[in-house]
Amino acid sequence: MLYFQKNALKFGESTALLSGSQSHTYTTLIEHSEKVASVLLENESDLNQSPVAYMVEPGLDYVVSQWGIWLAGGIAVPVALAHPLESIKYILHDTGAKTFICSAAYKSLLKDFCEASGIRLLVWGEMPALHQRSLPTIDAERGAMILYTSGTTSLPKGVLSTHHGIESQIKSLVEAWKYTAQDHTLCVLPLHHIHGIINVISATLYVGGKVEFLAQFSAEAIFELFKKGDLNVFMAVPTIYFKLIAYLETRSEQERMELKKYMQAFRLMISGSAALPVSVMEKWEALSGQRLLERYGMTEIGMAISNPYEGERRAGHVGMPLPMVQVRLANEENMEVVGEPGEIQVKGPTVFKEYWGKQQATEEAFTSDGWFKTGDVAEVQDHYYRILGRNSTDIIKSGGYKLSALEIEEVLRTHPNVDDCSVVGLPDEEWGEVVAAAVVLKVETSSEDLNTYMRSKMPAYRVPRKYVFLSELPRNAMGKVTKNDLKPLFIK
Ligand code: ATP
Ligand code: MG
Repeated sequence: MLYFQKNALKFGESTALLSGSQSHTYTTLIEHSEKVASVLLENESDLNQSPVAYMVEPGLDYVVSQWGIWLAGGIAVPVALAHPLESIKYILHDTGAKTFICSAAYKSLLKDFCEASGIRLLVWGEMPALHQRSLPTIDAERGAMILYTSGTTSLPKGVLSTHHGIESQIKSLVEAWKYTAQDHTLCVLPLHHIHGIINVISATLYVGGKVEFLAQFSAEAIFELFKKGDLNVFMAVPTIYFKLIAYLETRSEQERMELKKYMQAFRLMISGSAALPVSVMEKWEALSGQRLLERYGMTEIGMAISNPYEGERRAGHVGMPLPMVQVRLANEENMEVVGEPGEIQVKGPTVFKEYWGKQQATEEAFTSDGWFKTGDVAEVQDHYYRILGRNSTDIIKSGGYKLSALEIEEVLRTHPNVDDCSVVGLPDEEWGEVVAAAVVLKVETSSEDLNTYMRSKMPAYRVPRKYVFLSELPRNAMGKVTKNDLKPLFIK
């Protein structure tokens, strides 16, 4: 029996999920999942690792769709709710999924396309009631889920993980972050991405805790739920913390103090999926009394490096390797380096199996001795890893230097008039690349002012040569800045 089913049977009548006034036990989860599996197995005894896509709103039906696919022996492919039909088609085509489960709200969007492509569309609320089928026995080494990367640097890639790989990712987090059955975790993240699926939902349910879903994302709705006083774990991406801070700054002192009281009582608040600006970490600590735990992870490897649960959570750093995860820094020849920046390479049971249908890309992603090459550059300072950025978009090669865009962004954000910014390298004949910054301002400020400020803070070769001013930075569904969209804006 797979781990989630075994655990759910053990936790039985305990509450697993909450959405609005509804609550559901672990027993309900299993019963409903078995029904979904029976529907999926209408014409066969085992889906045998065929991919099944699902586009379902966060809540009971979401978890049950995923577990139902697993119980039937299929590979779960969660589809982002925010995606336009073109991106959904891309995922269906790329995975070859022949069955698609959706919430009633998406039926009209998907119906024609599914009919034309011979895809069986199962709509929540219209599922046929079938007699319970006998379910296949599933080996943990089978493929379990294809998650698409965020598409920050290029087209999203389908990442296949096995049940064993996913359980390893969960176990590593449970050990490091001390999840317990008393946990009551708020889920505000989109559920097509590893962050929400593994760290929020799967790990909480692994230990018998409760996951609470938010009906509709807004800062106000999140704080309303905080005020109930029973949540104790919160995980989000930096842009969400940014939005929550902006909201709190508009509230009265009295309301802020009241909310702080609730937030201080949380067991844990985490940030990840993109670099957490030091200013955001500091403001959040002042407003909530919580020192955020920042961690580093990736669709392909799960979570790999984390600040300690107990002990110093160091701003601008992501901490140390998580349990079961081997991490090293390597140079361009894939040789380990010590005491200097290098590419993060990872090994262990949490690492994915393959890029779906992309054998060559899979081979190229690993070294000859089996380390996964993340493409992210880091250094270690006093045992704490510090991310310098992606080799492809954040490490700017200028005049023989390798500059970290993330470090330059951190400095630019300390300018009192800068709300947010993103730094990129632009091709340059003389220097190879030159530094350029896209800036969101709080009040009008000239590029000369910014330039003077930056020159007072860092050597000239790191100072941006060009600025563009935007009302907001281009971001994807995970709130990550899509730097490739920024570069053309500098070319007049
Ligand atoms: P794509 O691979 O499609 O371009 P993506 O890399 O953004 O998209 P994800 O797997 O969601 O897709 O994100 C993993 C990446 O997010 C990491 O490789 C790293 O660059 C970045 N990241 C995650 N956590 C952190 C962090 N704490 N600090 C800095 N960067 C982070
Ligand atoms: Mg990536």
